[in-house]
Amino acid sequence: MAKCEKCGAEVPEEELYEALGLKVCEICKLKSASASSPSQPCG
Ligand SMILES: [Zn+2]
Repeated sequence: MAKCEKCGAEVPEEELYEALGLKVCEICKLKSASASSPSQPCG
């Protein structure tokens, strides 16, 4: 088991992803991906 460095959730290593240099769970990965989206449609 590995631990998400963002929310602290324990997840299997195969479900751990790297985002912003951190090992994070899938949920945090998706969140950071949508948060740091380079091109957001605005209007
Ligand atoms: Zn997480």
